[in-house]
Amino acid sequence: MIAIGTAELKRMFDAIAVAIEADKDRLCQLDGVIGDADHGIAMALGFGAVRDALAPLELAATEPTVLLNTAAKSFLNAVGASSGPLYATAFMRGAAAVKGKATLASDDIIALFQAMAQGIQDRGKAEIGEKTMVDAWLPAAQAAAAAHAAGKTVSESLAAALQAAERGAEATKDMIAAKGRSSRLGERSLGHIDPGAASAVTVIGAMRKSLG
Ligand code: ADP
Ligand code: MG
Ligand code: MG
Repeated sequence: MIAIGTAELKRMFDAIAVAIEADKDRLCQLDGVIGDADHGIAMALGFGAVRDALAPLELAATEPTVLLNTAAKSFLNAVGASSGPLYATAFMRGAAAVKGKATLASDDIIALFQAMAQGIQDRGKAEIGEKTMVDAWLPAAQAAAAAHAAGKTVSESLAAALQAAERGAEATKDMIAAKGRSSRLGERSLGHIDPGAASAVTVIGAMRKSLG
């Protein structure tokens, strides 16, 4: 695999922005059932802002860590919903994980991915089973790390991550929300997919496509 540099990372964010934009209505609908119907709008605003912030960067003179921190800041500034600080922390932690690297090798990509998931969990303090995006991100990060440790390529590892995220998101249907806005519904949140877990699948899918 070719090492990943800032041009590839920028393409990855562009790919996420396109995928989220295409998924916006579905994500708002999912959030309409157990939340306040803005999740698709929030995510599209966030990744749109990231795209705008990265566009003028002189990529050859930028390090991956700077690009990721720029993404974090612009996402946070653009998004007022709970997903704002969660994804901003993901990108900030990702930036810290690759600090000092000019390009990213396989190990770095997996470390970046794991740092993002860990950042989301640390920021929101949600555990597995509480019906949040953590139910997609954490198993995805574990699957990526396990596949990588077993000698799989980045592409294969991210494919394993995507599968785990899909399973995790699907599993949120049978969970009672214990964090965030939908926790107010209690048992009435049963039977519905968590919107943040659904969008995590979209984000991870776009990452797999562009980095794989
Ligand atoms: P808001 O609820 O403020 O409108 P969004 O609609 O953008 O924010 O995002 C809702 C999603 O955020 C939920 O579906 C859930 O996945 C995620 N979420 C909420 N609180 C937390 C938390 N504490 N930890 C992790 N994810 C959370
Ligand atoms: Mg919402
Ligand atoms: Mg909201």
